[in-house]
Amino acid sequence: MGQAVVVGAGVGGLAAAGALARNGWRVTLLERNDRLRADPAAVLLWPNGVRALRALGLADGLDSIATPVPPSGIRRADGSWLVQPGAAAALSPRSAPVVVHSEDLHDALIARLTATVDVRTGISVRQARVTPRDRPSVTDGRATWEADLLVGADGVQSVVRRAVSPESSVISSGYAAWRAVIPWYRAPHLATDVALGAEILGGDYRFFAASLGERGSAGASTRGGIYWQATVAGAARPEAPATQLALLRRWFERWPAPVGDLLGATEPDDLVQHDVREINPALTEFGTPSTTGGVALIGDAAHGMAHHLAQGACLAFEDVATLVALANQTQPGDGLRAAVLAYSKARVPRSAAVARQTKRVAAVLAPRGRFGTRARDAAFGVLSTRVLDRARAEAANWFPPN
Ligand SMILES: Cc1cc2nc3c(=O)[nH]c(=O)nc-3n(C[C@H](O)[C@H](O)[C@H](O)COP(=O)(O)OP(=O)(O)OC[C@H]3O[C@@H](n4cnc5c(N)ncnc54)[C@H](O)[C@@H]3O)c2cc1C
Repeated sequence: MGQAVVVGAGVGGLAAAGALARNGWRVTLLERNDRLRADPAAVLLWPNGVRALRALGLADGLDSIATPVPPSGIRRADGSWLVQPGAAAALSPRSAPVVVHSEDLHDALIARLTATVDVRTGISVRQARVTPRDRPSVTDGRATWEADLLVGADGVQSVVRRAVSPESSVISSGYAAWRAVIPWYRAPHLATDVALGAEILGGDYRFFAASLGERGSAGASTRGGIYWQATVAGAARPEAPATQLALLRRWFERWPAPVGDLLGATEPDDLVQHDVREINPALTEFGTPSTTGGVALIGDAAHGMAHHLAQGACLAFEDVATLVALANQTQPGDGLRAAVLAYSKARVPRSAAVARQTKRVAAVLAPRGRFGTRARDAAFGVLSTRVLDRARAEAANWFPPN
């Protein structure tokens, strides 16, 4: 095996660095933050993401931190049901997710980094150099790292992507999102008939919550608590977190339980705000060969997209499972170059399909304006649930390469 440099220690980079090192690669992991850390939020892992993690040998860690999200239906902002809980559509068990605290997931991935991974934090890569005749390299302006395999896992604003695909650009998806985990010891008492896990949809607003563990115990998650996510049409807010929280409480004021209870129990420091962005136009290559191997883009660096299907992290794990399976069958040279190309060929159509479904789901879950919302609500009985079910089923329908 050869030398790999992984840029970015988000979920994709951590999974890639660990999996490559466990398979005999010499790995350097470069992260711009001063320590390896996750946002204090949570992620849904769909069956495809779970399969990818299992293929990477991470199943044991996952089972102890994941909590199933029961099918809980879809409601309007006035509390009435668009899809009753238990209805077959919209969250069929086939495509139902589990929810995981992001810090638990990060800890599980860090625990599987072997002692051989050279982790360098506080390194902000400024430039990547990729030519057909040299080994790819990256620099932070002071030091340079060369590799047989350079993995760009540096998120939607990727520096590595800029080197291999300078024409790509990042645009706003037109939404801001907030996420928070209320720790279990601060979680509000919820009425017994209030189901977490239901999507609640309004005009330009959307709210979702899921339990990470029972009140009073850590439950399935090490940390436990209640995760919520709010999506609002428009740009991210520049104000301080306390003002953002006050705005969220105002926007969602008349929404059904448990929205008010959860926003009331949230503290400003719990909030994680996102200006939702996507790569546009989508890349047509995720891999670029060079002398002994090449560059592979994974995760949001390759296919950053809006979060309406909540598949970004799952796709990153699929990328890693595919890349590692291909790279492990080769040595630096012709074989690794072919593996980089095969990786791109396998992953571009798959992420394009999920991006297409994400756009369809956006029209259902996040229509813009009063007219769009009325049209969505009128059609919801049949058409929209079919769109949702199909999108989720297609996204979940991925299996790791042998
Ligand atoms: C509101 C919201 C909800 C979501 N919910 C879900 C969900 O439920 N399920 C799901 O699967 N996905 C979800 N996603 C998507 C998911 O969060 C992302 O797709 C995923 O985090 C991407 O992981 P990544 O490792 O590719 O990139 P990132 O998480 O962005 O990590 C990139 C890493 O690279 C580092 N870095 C960046 N630039 C440099 C540089 N120049 N030098 C060195 N290091 C650098 C960063 O510091 C960071 O650590 C959601 C997204 C949003 C916005």
